[in-house]
Amino acid sequence: MSRNSALEPLHPVFREKAGSLLQECAKAELPFKLFEGYRSPERQLDLYQQGRTAPGAIVTRANAWQSYHQYGVAADFVLFTNGRWSWADSGEFKNHWKKLHQLATKVGLEPLSWELPHLQLKGQQLAGLMAGHYPSGGDSDWADNLRQTIRNWQGQPPAPPMPPLLSERPAVTAELAEPLLPVTQGGGAMQATVTARGGLRVRAGPGTEFDVISSLAAGQRLWLLQSKGDWTQVDIAGDGLVDGYCHSAFLQVIT
Ligand SMILES: [Zn+2]
Repeated sequence: MSRNSALEPLHPVFREKAGSLLQECAKAELPFKLFEGYRSPERQLDLYQQGRTAPGAIVTRANAWQSYHQYGVAADFVLFTNGRWSWADSGEFKNHWKKLHQLATKVGLEPLSWELPHLQLKGQQLAGLMAGHYPSGGDSDWADNLRQTIRNWQGQPPAPPMPPLLSERPAVTAELAEPLLPVTQGGGAMQATVTARGGLRVRAGPGTEFDVISSLAAGQRLWLLQSKGDWTQVDIAGDGLVDGYCHSAFLQVIT
């Protein structure tokens, strides 16, 4: 589980503040860089076990899902000088960390007293994040990453609720979608019977993602209007009006 210093998986509100902080640091000639931002629950668990059930010194108080890092609203900022990361905090460096915390507070981030590099979004409650109360203003980079992590998590403690899907892709346009084609036979309406022994579901649209609106008995006759992929738009009453969609595999055309 490697360290992640990318900005994309961070919540946009935090991402923006982290960017401002880095700019402020550059202006003040403070050599801080973002060392670790988003942290997976797997990595958090690894770090939590260190010094407890695994060798090493204790490095965190937080188990999986108990750190703001898992929600993309925290990052660790560390000194980076002469091509090396440095946690030095004595002598002249003491003041660097103090200034980092001052600038962080100014942009709306909150330091922790026991972990110098850690800065988190102000005004969040860990219990709230764990219950799925995420800050507003999320985007798909943040949400997709968190959703995938939640979906894959099988450990303890349980994962929080998923954030909503925040897709920025445009909807499929009518031209791109598969068109409905009229079902006719010699120019006339086509009839069919239901061949599913247990009956056939009629859905509100051409796919299993649409609601079931009624059910047809085996052997029932109906009229076929248009088809789309594996689905056929049907007219049950024979009045030319659409009643719904059935899976074409269970319709036998009457010739
Ligand atoms: Zn941290």
